[in-house]
Amino acid sequence: TKESVKGFLRRNLFVLLTIAAVALGVMLGFALRPHNLTLRKIKYFAFPGELLMRMLQMLVLPLIISSLVTGISSLDSKASGKMGMRAVVYYMVTTLIAVFIGIVIVIVIKPGKGHRDSPVASSGTIEPVQAADAFLDLIRNMFPPNLVEACFKQYKTVYKKTIYTKNVTITLNLTDSLNTVVETIPVSGSSNGVNALGLVVFSMCFGLVIGSMKQQGQALRDFFDCLNEAIMRLVAIIIWYAPVGILFLIAGKIVEMKNLAEVGGQLGMYTVSVIVGLLIHGLFVLPLFYFLVTRKNPYTFIAGLLQALITALGTSSSSATLPITFRCLEENNHVDKRVTRFILPVGATINMDGTALYEAVAAIFIAQVNDMELNFGQILTISITATAASIGAAGIPQAGLVTMVIVLTSVGLPTEDITLIIAVDWFLDRLRTTTNVLGDSLGAGIVEHLSRQELQSQDVEVGNSVIEE
Ligand code: ASP
Repeated sequence: TKESVKGFLRRNLFVLLTIAAVALGVMLGFALRPHNLTLRKIKYFAFPGELLMRMLQMLVLPLIISSLVTGISSLDSKASGKMGMRAVVYYMVTTLIAVFIGIVIVIVIKPGKGHRDSPVASSGTIEPVQAADAFLDLIRNMFPPNLVEACFKQYKTVYKKTIYTKNVTITLNLTDSLNTVVETIPVSGSSNGVNALGLVVFSMCFGLVIGSMKQQGQALRDFFDCLNEAIMRLVAIIIWYAPVGILFLIAGKIVEMKNLAEVGGQLGMYTVSVIVGLLIHGLFVLPLFYFLVTRKNPYTFIAGLLQALITALGTSSSSATLPITFRCLEENNHVDKRVTRFILPVGATINMDGTALYEAVAAIFIAQVNDMELNFGQILTISITATAASIGAAGIPQAGLVTMVIVLTSVGLPTEDITLIIAVDWFLDRLRTTTNVLGDSLGAGIVEHLSRQELQSQDVEVGNSVIEE
């Protein structure tokens, strides 16, 4: 009837608008392609999209901190410990499954077989970090020496070989340890250098502590609770703008992209391999996981996430998508706020199934291109480092491409071959980011289901204290 159509429209207004935005964006993009716009004009054209990105990123920092602090401090330490454990187990298991799927697919499809068909760019001049350095950087970044700096910088180890000739300093490729300088320096990423991992660790510890401070911690708990609520209200405003932003993000990228017809041969097969892997993981494996644990229909749950998934596709950043993911889970899927606040910021920072899958496929693809036979031990190494690389990757566009270095060096593959896959990375990045967000969200649903006992007993406790007061 008319009423129910109206109700449906009202409930799904944003989802419908977002879907319409994608469709329009694609059409507009393809319509403008033949005009061969200059890069400058494309940048002007895509400006509304850039604005959305900036607005979302603006909210991420206070959102991560306030939601983690309130989420954790509203639970007793036993409950948050159990919840955290469940989340970590879920993250590890699903990430490893994703890596496994990637490995099987790339070995079956063999996208890199035959002679390499793309020329390699000249190699860089700075020695890439070794896997061990990257591991240490990962841990290092968990403990930022300066919280304010952690809001815009991360630490990174670099090796430089410096030769001093008269008064010129040349930095060369490092082949021996002579004159080698090792530095661990704070760097700001190109698009967003936030050390999310460090902030997550700090906020969790902080939340735990003020949660245990009873009456004394009340003022701080109220403060962060209020901050979180205020940020979510800002999200509710930005959400009106999101469809416009997504339209232009997508249209702009389509206008800008290289001719896809040129991406044939090995690179084409590589792209297909990653896509097939992501589809299997996102459409079957993760939903099956959700179903097995909760016995609820995973696709109904996913339908509630549509807007977040499309935002991930548009922004290729799981951290920029975070505000929308929060809203979808809380408003559409009614996941308990104590769970989303705790689980989502952690998930967006360390749980990246799509990235892990892609890292494994890319590394083995590069091995195939180089005619290098990998033995079982090397494949195992790739699985482990791909997992680490996905944890270490920030939730920003193409971060996975950077952490790829860890995977390649761990089995002695040439890091300059990353250039082979750059041409299609912007596209695969969007798809893997969507998978990442999907994994985080289903994880929140699963953890909520597994933690219902703890949540209920907390409800009772809170109820009691209210009565006592
Ligand atoms: N862009 C991805 C994300 O935000 C990370 C990656 O590059 O794989 O989730």
